[in-house]
Amino acid sequence: MRQKIVAGNWKMNKTYSEALSLAAEIGNYIEQNPLADHQHVVLCVPAIYVVDAEQETSSIDNLWVGAQNCHYKDSGAFTGEISAQMLQSVGVKYVIIGHSERREYFNETNNLLKQKVDNALANGLKVIFCCGESLKTREKNDYKEWIEEQLTESLFHLSMPQLLNVAIAYEPIWAIGTGKTASPEQAQEVHEHIRYLMMNIYGAATANKVPILYGGSCNPANAATLFAQPDIDGGLIGGASLKIDDFAAIIKAMP
Ligand code: PEP
Repeated sequence: MRQKIVAGNWKMNKTYSEALSLAAEIGNYIEQNPLADHQHVVLCVPAIYVVDAEQETSSIDNLWVGAQNCHYKDSGAFTGEISAQMLQSVGVKYVIIGHSERREYFNETNNLLKQKVDNALANGLKVIFCCGESLKTREKNDYKEWIEEQLTESLFHLSMPQLLNVAIAYEPIWAIGTGKTASPEQAQEVHEHIRYLMMNIYGAATANKVPILYGGSCNPANAATLFAQPDIDGGLIGGASLKIDDFAAIIKAMP
């Protein structure tokens, strides 16, 4: 069975005590409702909390801490930045790369993201790589080409073994934080296309192993229907990952 993942993207939210309480609550929930071998839950907490969140959750099987970004170099004169090497050294397992907010507000290009992906993988992190179109691109019906370009320019240079350490998150920008979820059919159409693109380059065996997550206003009411689609392998969850009841319900919906 393909790896399934529910990852919470906490973005720039929560004070220290709030963050640790939420990590503990999620840990307790998973202790009482253990994950299967093929299921991972990832908490992409603000970077300042990764060490303590890691300590809080490290004893719980298949619950991992992730970061929301990393630099493309191991070290150097890059004031304010955090490297994949640093994240790896404190036990972080996953990193989100290419979130649309980083692309939009921090001018991250496909080429820059390619370098970040390479560096994160070289440091042993698993990458959750985000792609997705704006409303304008969707309305022009260019979304498949747009996503193909994002993946080609940042991801499809990877070797087969490298790609197996990547999960792709399809996050239509028009659905992020808007309450407007892609319908299961809209999401499945893009996920199937992403898998088809991977198949053409890497072959079916590899393409069928890469988890493709959906992100964009996923919540307890729509998670199960989205996750029931054949090419949807879980979700990258923003707003609903900040409340224990909502996040626990989404974890429960993971196939
Ligand atoms: C996200 O930012 O990755 C996201 C999916 O946010 P939300 O669930 O709030 O739409």
